[in-house]
This record gives sequence, structure tokens and C-alpha cells, in this order.
Amino acid sequence: MTTKTDEDGIDLDIKDAMEGYQRFRRKFDQDKAFYSRLATSGQKPKLLWIGCCDSRVVPSQIMSADPGELFEIRNIANCVPPSGADEDSVGAAIEYALGHLGIDDIVVCGHTGCGGIQALLEPIPPGQEAHLGRWVDYTRPAHDLVRAAGIEPQNQLMATIAAHIQFQLDNLMTYEIVRRGVEEGRVGLHGWLYDMESGEVVVYDRISGEWRELLAEAAE
Ligand SMILES: [Zn+2]
Repeated sequence: MTTKTDEDGIDLDIKDAMEGYQRFRRKFDQDKAFYSRLATSGQKPKLLWIGCCDSRVVPSQIMSADPGELFEIRNIANCVPPSGADEDSVGAAIEYALGHLGIDDIVVCGHTGCGGIQALLEPIPPGQEAHLGRWVDYTRPAHDLVRAAGIEPQNQLMATIAAHIQFQLDNLMTYEIVRRGVEEGRVGLHGWLYDMESGEVVVYDRISGEWRELLAEAAE
């Protein structure tokens, strides 16, 4: 593998990042009072956002959120491994968000065209990418459900992405701190799906089992 460099031998990807950083520093200087407040008064984020690593799905951009507003967990295919699975990173962030930051809303946001969901449709050769293989297995219940439902192949990916979000809401309830919060009416769980082509977010209604546009909630 060769990396492309400029005339000074600087990696072009890093150069691009440096230029972006330069722009950020200029903006930081302009908004110094804001950043200083953030640094000294601690974080009080409003939402725990559990989303995919996908570089095209940017939570703070979709929510027009400033630094300090979103507490984010991002992993391949926005998975919430059930409590007791051999994975502490997601559970630790959930417990910190609810127990220490006082967050009372959790959003699990999937997205159209998710490669992490697609991955299980194309089996990973044994012995290769073992971590990825184990991780995407968390999407298996959604795949099994969609396959059992006999959904047509061209609609399977989309149906699996949606079903996977619902399963992650169930998995959230396996965490004691979430379950207690929900049962006592203190914590809200929200299943969202971001459409990369339209920019629209639809919301899963756990009571009716239907999806509807996020802004339709406010219109009611
Ligand atoms: Zn994804």
C-alpha cells in the first residue's frame, strides 16, 4: 500500500485533516467564551445517541447539535449488546450517561444502506476479521426475523435495518439502570432511522409498531 504525499512528504489525508483543524482553531478563537464555558462548567448533554460508525451519518449534524449536547456511542451497525454479553464498552457508556450525566433520553439511530447490517448477508471467511465477524453477529436476530417473515430479497436489507433498531431497544431494557428508569417513567427510549438520501428521520412507535416521520410527533 502506498500513501499519497505532497511535495513536502506530508500524507495527503493528514494534510486535509490539518487544514480542517486550522479552520476549527479559527472558529474556536471566535467562539472562545462558549468553549471556555464548556470546559469549566462540565458537560450536560441532553441525549444519549447510539449510532453507527458510518462517516455519512453524523449525529451532531443531523440534530444541529453543538458540542456538549450529545453523548455518543458509535459502533458498527449501532449495536447494543445485551447486558451480560462479553462487551463492556456500550454498557459502561449507558451507565455513565444515565447514572452520572442525568441523561433521560436514549436514541438508537440506524440508517439506510448500513454496511454493518449488510455484512451478515455476505459471510466473512472464517479466520479473517474475527472481531468484525463477532460484532456483526449482534445483528443476527434481525436477520433471522426478516428471513423467517419471508420478506422479498430486494426489501430484506431495509427490513433488517428497521428490525435491528427494535431489537436494540429491547436490548437496552436488559440493563438494570435503563429498565428501572423506563419502568419508573424517568427514561425514554427512541428508535430512529435516518434516510441518507432524503435526510429524513423516521421514528419507531413501540406501541403501534409503526414508523413515522420525526417531525410528525410535534405536529400531533
Ligand atoms: Zn451503518
